[in-house]
Amino acid sequence: MCCTLLLAVYLIDAGQIITSIITAVLFSYAAYLMIKTPSVAVVQQRLLIACFALHSVVMLLQVVLLVLLYSSQISQASLASGLQLLLVTHLFLTTASALILPFIKFANAESRLINLANHDPLTQLLNRRGFFRLCKKITKTAPLNSRVSLIMLDIDLFKQVNDQYGHETGDEAIKWIAQHINELFFELGVTARIGGEEFAIFLNQQNLAQARQLAQKLCSSINEYPFYFNGHSIALSVSAGVSSMLVRELDMQALLLQADKRLYLAKETGRNKVVTHDEKSLLAKAPSAII
Ligand code: GH3
Ligand code: MG
Ligand code: MG
Repeated sequence: MCCTLLLAVYLIDAGQIITSIITAVLFSYAAYLMIKTPSVAVVQQRLLIACFALHSVVMLLQVVLLVLLYSSQISQASLASGLQLLLVTHLFLTTASALILPFIKFANAESRLINLANHDPLTQLLNRRGFFRLCKKITKTAPLNSRVSLIMLDIDLFKQVNDQYGHETGDEAIKWIAQHINELFFELGVTARIGGEEFAIFLNQQNLAQARQLAQKLCSSINEYPFYFNGHSIALSVSAGVSSMLVRELDMQALLLQADKRLYLAKETGRNKVVTHDEKSLLAKAPSAII
């Protein structure tokens, strides 16, 4: 860039043309980079791309004007008025770009911070805060007479995994469980790690029977194959409590409490199972079945 500017100073004729061409290329490249950059401020990003592209065109117009002048096809006077117009355009585009760019930077930084505040760094699932925020948002627009369900999961005898294989292996096991949850519920529900080795899944417009079926599918897939890490093969299982409510009567805390109570029942009556009711007597009759 410095060299081209020096060219502009010392080799006036060719220098101005070369400088303009290079600047046009730089603006085109900046527009291309902007297109490739993901951003949450979509409208502002498009405006900035338009500014860069227009700036590139303006620089090329400047080249045309200079070439016409040097080939004596236009007069010095008409060149001056043309260049004046281009100068105003330069100023306008530069000011617009300078105002839009910080806005995009700020919007992207803010979105990154919100993302960090709402997600669990180990599993990339939502954390408790993000989970409740999203559930609240979803239920605001859900039909009042539809049902929502909640699955609460807790890894069985996880302390033993930590004690026997170490904390690092424990962390990997949590990630492995999160992967299973993500695979099954990616498009079906809101998934979160709400505690150390506890997970929650919120299902919009799904009743208790549908939620139970999905929870059972998840438990079976986790239990089907062992988790392999550092040469160890570790059999893992989870217990689940499922609750459901009409959107009209929805109270997230009550929904969570009920699922938690049922999760506790699942633990009490043998683990590796899904519980959808509160009666312990039913569980006692069929300890390993889905109730
Ligand atoms: P239960 O079947 O009754 O759930 O038995 P449990 O051993 O899993 O008991 P509990 O759920 O109370 O134990 C939770 C354990 O999970 C205790 C803690 O050391 C471990 N834990 C919690 N968070 C993490 C974590 O982020 N990483 C690892 N490695 N371990 C964790
Ligand atoms: Mg546990
Ligand atoms: Mg626990």
